[in-house]
Amino acid sequence: MIRVEDLHKHFGGFHAVDGASLSIEKGSITGLIGPNGAGKTTLFNVIAGVLPPTSGRVIMEGADITGLPPHALFQKGLLRTFQIAHEFHTMTCRENLMMVPPRQSGENLWSAWFERGKVRLEEEEIRRRADEVLEFLTIDHIADEKAGMISGGQKKLLELGRTMMTDARVVFLDEVGAGVNRTLLNTIADAIVRLNQERGYTFVVIEHDMDFIGRICDPVICMAEGKVLAEGTLDEIKANEAVIEAYLGT
Ligand code: ADP
Repeated sequence: MIRVEDLHKHFGGFHAVDGASLSIEKGSITGLIGPNGAGKTTLFNVIAGVLPPTSGRVIMEGADITGLPPHALFQKGLLRTFQIAHEFHTMTCRENLMMVPPRQSGENLWSAWFERGKVRLEEEEIRRRADEVLEFLTIDHIADEKAGMISGGQKKLLELGRTMMTDARVVFLDEVGAGVNRTLLNTIADAIVRLNQERGYTFVVIEHDMDFIGRICDPVICMAEGKVLAEGTLDEIKANEAVIEAYLGT
């Protein structure tokens, strides 16, 4: 679904991504691991159009998407989740979901509504969709809570919910588990797996919690010093000499 070819991202003389090449299979939940400073987040930001690459290419389903801005990637169904911005903290969870614009192409629920001859989606329909998303993520009980008041794990679920409002196709999730308790982490893992299996989402997940990675990700890609070191199942990665050395060296 996504192919990254010899990607470089330099900050001045520093090579944060230094010739990374990798493929993301359609329908996979791919884990991206590696020691701090390996270049994982920078790689995400370049793929998602947040940062321009220094060189290299990103291909999505055969089309060159290198350097496309986030809104153009959004139209293609490629999304990177972001923490809920401060401005949205005073809005409720439902309102946060209702703010997400629909993608206007592709075969999704929104286009089905468009095909029914509606020029604009009615607010009621968007609300129904938001409630459906909250229910899917098992956070319907916080629909009317202000987004600034919910827990870190619930915020992560709401970020996932925002991708569902657009019927995303490939979602990049950064540090899903940071500061999230075990129970909610399990809920997040379940939601990712269900979105993958029931709705065909492809995921790329950066996460430090190896239990989480081992439970839902296959394959796992390990980066260090801006390059891809190894790819395989988590067990294969854990047994890889270069990977062990990269982690011990930090
Ligand atoms: P990871 O996500 O694997 O921890 P990052 O992609 O966040 O790694 O960072 C890779 C390296 O690039 C780090 O050494 C970081 O300090 C550096 N870096 C990231 N963003 C910038 C930036 N905007 N300017 C300068 N250096 C940066």
